Amino acid sequence: MSDILKASIEEFTLAVDNDRSRMMDVVNAVQAKYGCVSSEAMDLIAEAMDVKRVEVESVISFYGFLSNEQKGKVVIRLCNDVVDKMLGYDEVAAAFKFELGIDFGETTPDGNISLETTACMGMCDQAPAALVNDVVVTELSTDKVRRIIAELRRSLDPERLVTKLGDGNNEHDLVHAMVHNNIRSAGPVVLAGLGAGKALKKALAMTPQEVIRSLKASRLRGRGGAGFPTGMKWEFTRAALSLGSDKYVICNADEGEPGTFKDRVILTEYPDILIEGMTIAGYAIGAAHGVLYLRGEYAYLRAFLEQELAKRRELGLLGRDVAGKTGFDFDIRVQMGAGAYICGEETALISSCEGLRGDPKNRPPFPAQKGMLGRPTSVNNVETFCSVARILERGSGWFNQLGSKGSPGTKLLSISGDCNRPGVYEMEFGTPLREVLKLAGGLNAQAVQVGGPSGELVGPEQFDRAICYDDLATGGAIVVFGADRDLLEVVAEYLEFFVEESCGYCTPCRVGNLLLKQRIDHIRAGRGEKADVAYLQELGESIRFTSRCGLGQTSPNPVLSSLRNFPALYEEVLKEETRGFHRRFDLASAVSKAEEIVGRKSSHSEEAGAV
Ligand code: SF4
Repeated sequence: MSDILKASIEEFTLAVDNDRSRMMDVVNAVQAKYGCVSSEAMDLIAEAMDVKRVEVESVISFYGFLSNEQKGKVVIRLCNDVVDKMLGYDEVAAAFKFELGIDFGETTPDGNISLETTACMGMCDQAPAALVNDVVVTELSTDKVRRIIAELRRSLDPERLVTKLGDGNNEHDLVHAMVHNNIRSAGPVVLAGLGAGKALKKALAMTPQEVIRSLKASRLRGRGGAGFPTGMKWEFTRAALSLGSDKYVICNADEGEPGTFKDRVILTEYPDILIEGMTIAGYAIGAAHGVLYLRGEYAYLRAFLEQELAKRRELGLLGRDVAGKTGFDFDIRVQMGAGAYICGEETALISSCEGLRGDPKNRPPFPAQKGMLGRPTSVNNVETFCSVARILERGSGWFNQLGSKGSPGTKLLSISGDCNRPGVYEMEFGTPLREVLKLAGGLNAQAVQVGGPSGELVGPEQFDRAICYDDLATGGAIVVFGADRDLLEVVAEYLEFFVEESCGYCTPCRVGNLLLKQRIDHIRAGRGEKADVAYLQELGESIRFTSRCGLGQTSPNPVLSSLRNFPALYEEVLKEETRGFHRRFDLASAVSKAEEIVGRKSSHSEEAGAV
């Protein structure tokens, strides 16, 4: 094994010229081939790439899809997102456990199949869903699970699970997925399609400064949620030219916000407009290198995207002297992620592109000054690049007329949950939430989470609010909750997500979210006190203001927005409080561990749990 492993690692490291910053490619390849990155493999990688072993180990321990423990030949990762739980996760999870005879986190005794859970995998419109190695299986039921396990026991070949293909490019040989695009409403900016090179040629007829001026005139803001003006970001990155000879353009295709799946559709159906936008960025800021950071969950799209890039190279739209513009050299490589939500944060994403743990970096310096490998870097969202290409094609004046005053253009929304028509909707900014819900068949909702867990939970009295940066801001996720849903359970689920996904660097985020979750659990268990509301508010605010990066700064939002918009939720469960009666202390659970140790059951266990 040692010689074979050594030969493989030499092959993988040579393929990336032993470049330390390509560590993710190497460890992903080892994981895929051997089912783990073993201790021996880590030593060999460290030696081949001339890094310390601890650096390799820190990467392996960080990413959800990497492991130093042996996994089965097939790894099933069942998505445990809120929407999946609303649509049958419990039954499907029980069926997987029953059919395999193992629990989550275990591997069948023959070493063939491992069963795990994963956070949102971008399939909320066709949940419950799972990844079987890189193969996506959707709309799971107990029957489907039975058939999946029977097939895997027979062939150990996940590809054989795709018996019916989805629509559009999901049918493409290099995608071959049962996934459906579910495009419900195509707007004029992103989902309108674009002829290859059309916008790029217009951009190249201008100077880079004119391209940036045109973007500034369009008032395009980043579509990731923060809404920073794109033209300004590019101006800063271009102005940093004198600080280094290499610049980078990075596309953040790591949409991990639970409830978001619109980038999946763009990557599947409209890669041209995205790649065109990235190429225009390269020209405008003076970069030669582009990186398309693709989330591990979308590995099934990789070969297809590589082919799209190759086609553009053949057309002269990537590579040397792009589109005949002498001196403009620009190319793009795909960088795979490995299952870490925090990598959607731009500095964490840069860390990952550098072959490191996906740890956020301190700012300043900002990426525009010192980003990828210390070079000026512009990180933009998939949708932002698409909007750039369209602006260059149609003009900033045209774009400016779409949307609302402070938010020109359109927004792609991923709508899922309790609605009749889940899917992707491209809407003009300024559209009231009510109109969107009407289109999606979700008007009877008791609540809607706008912007994913880090966004805002709103009720029917707020459905007339507009989707735009100045009102209901969203990176794209809209999850609809019907009348029967337990909203405190939703809050608890979202907090659990943040507890799991925190990188652990700073205390407010690492510990604070756990404390919020524990207090919500107390309340849900009927042991809440009135003082808990003030506690949740105070702790939530303090996590917001003291956390280091966007994840921590937005993680208390499920609690804070539910306190603000749904006070009755809390009043309801806290109303039975009696003066001087501390419900939070549960004697039965406090002594249960001791009872277990001494093998005795006290009367407290049988009586009321609270004193
Ligand atoms: Fe990590 Fe959370 Fe701190 Fe961000 S806020 S650096 S995710 S611990």
